[in-house]
Amino acid sequence: MNFDTVVLGAGIVGVCVAVHLQKRGRQVALVDRKLPGNETSFGNAGLIQREGVYPYALPRDLGTLLRYARNRSPEVRYHANAMLEAAPFLWQYWRNSHPAKHAAIAKSYSTLIELCISEHRTLAANAGASALLRPIGWIKVFRTDAARDAEIRLAELWHREYGVAFESLDTAGLHRAEPSLAKTLSGGLHYPQSDSVSDPNALVTAYAKYFEALGGRFFIGDADSLREGWEVDTQAGTTITAASAVVALGPWSSRVSSRLGYRLPLAVKRGYHMHYASHAAARLNHPILDAEKGYVLAPMARGIRLTTGAEIAHIGAPRTPTQLAAVEPVARTLFPLGNRLDEQAWMGARPCTADMMPIIGPAKNHSGLWFAFGHAHHGLTLGPVTGRLIAEMMTGEETVVDPRPFRVERF
Ligand SMILES: Cc1cc2nc3c(=O)[nH]c(=O)nc-3n(C[C@H](O)[C@H](O)[C@H](O)COP(=O)(O)OP(=O)(O)OC[C@H]3O[C@@H](n4cnc5c(N)ncnc54)[C@H](O)[C@@H]3O)c2cc1C
Repeated sequence: MNFDTVVLGAGIVGVCVAVHLQKRGRQVALVDRKLPGNETSFGNAGLIQREGVYPYALPRDLGTLLRYARNRSPEVRYHANAMLEAAPFLWQYWRNSHPAKHAAIAKSYSTLIELCISEHRTLAANAGASALLRPIGWIKVFRTDAARDAEIRLAELWHREYGVAFESLDTAGLHRAEPSLAKTLSGGLHYPQSDSVSDPNALVTAYAKYFEALGGRFFIGDADSLREGWEVDTQAGTTITAASAVVALGPWSSRVSSRLGYRLPLAVKRGYHMHYASHAAARLNHPILDAEKGYVLAPMARGIRLTTGAEIAHIGAPRTPTQLAAVEPVARTLFPLGNRLDEQAWMGARPCTADMMPIIGPAKNHSGLWFAFGHAHHGLTLGPVTGRLIAEMMTGEETVVDPRPFRVERF
C-alpha cells in the first residue's frame, strides 16, 4: 500500500506528527506494534508543563551526586550493570547541566514549551477531547523552608526570563488549596498555567481517532522491518511503501537510528506508577510533586496515580520498582491513600538525550527520513508542538519556531 509518509510509533509524539501531516493533505500510515498510547505515553503523570522552560538537569553538587551514588535516594536509582554503557551519556548530560549551558539550552527549549498549552488545547478541541485537559495547574510542595525558598528563587527566575506564572503558597494557602494534605508541609508553589490530563492514554487515543477521522490509517506492525526506500511490513501481511518515514519510537528510537548508522547520545530514565483509592473524605485537587522526596501524586480517572523518579537501567532489564516501595509509605504520610488499585506497578522509559532537548528534523544522511524523539520528561507536554513543527518542515511551510536547535546534526 502506498502512502506519502509512514510514521513509526504511535505514542503521543508519533500520533501528533501523524495528525499534523494528515491535516496538511499528506496520506499518512501510522504504525505501532501496539494500539496508540500504550507505552510511555500511557503511564506518565499527565502534566502539560508550561513552566518547564528549563529541562531537567543533572544536579552538579557533590553532596547530591554522592547521595545518588549510594543508590538509595527516592528520586534517582540505577542498575549497576547499566552504568558502563550509560557513562558517556551521563558525562555529556552532566556537562550540559552546567548553569551556563543549561541557561543556553533553556533559550531554545522554551520556544517549544511556550506553545505546549495552546497546541494541546487546539488539538484536543479538534479531537473532541477537551474534557481530558484540566486547566488547574499543579503544585510543588515542600517539607522545609530552605527547599521552599530555593524553589521560589527558581520560579522567580523563570518568571523574569520566560514569563512563567507562579503562586507561592504558605502553609495556610496550601491547606486551602489542598485540605487533605498533611499539615506539616511548609508551603508550596502553584504553577497555574499548566494543564493536567486525567487520562493520558485516553488523550492519545482521542488524537489517534482524530487522525483516522481525517483519513489517516493506523496499522499494527514492527518498525524493525523498516527498509530504506521506505517500506514497513504490517502484521496483517501488507507492505507499506512511502516517500518519507518519521521515527517517533520514543525510548526505542535508537534501535532504528543506530541500525541506520546514527550514533546519538541517548539513554532512558525508567519510571513506575501505581494507582490508589483515596479515603472517603479525602480529595486531591491538583497533581502534587513532593519535591524533596521525588514523586508525584496526580488525581486521575482511575484513582490517585503515584509516579516515581528516574531509574537508569537498560530498557528491557527486569522491573525493579524499589523506588515505588520506598516512596509509597512517604506518600501515605502526605495524603491518605487507600488500597493499591493495580495488580503490579506500571513501568515506562523516558527517552532522553544528553542535552535534554528532543531531536526533531530531517535525518542528515537519508533522504526522506525524519526524527522526532528524545522528549525525556516532557513528551506528553511537547507532543503536539513537535507534530506541528515536523509537519511544517516536511511540507515546506513556515515553521512555528526555529527548528535549528533541535536538528540531529548538533550531535
Ligand atoms: C513515570 C513517568 C512520568 C512522566 N510524567 C510526564 C508528565 O507529567 N508530563 C510529560 O510531559 N511527560 C511525562 N513523562 C514523559 C512522557 O511520558 C514521555 O516523554 C512520552 O510519553 C514519550 O512519548 P513518545 O511518543 O516519544 O514515546 P512512547 O509513548 O513510548 O511511544 C513510542 C511508541 O513506539 C512503539 N514501538 C516501539 N518499538 C516499536 C517497534 N519495533 N515497532 C512498532 N512500534 C514500536 C511503542 O509501542 C510506542 O507506542 C513521564 C514519563 C514517565 C516514565
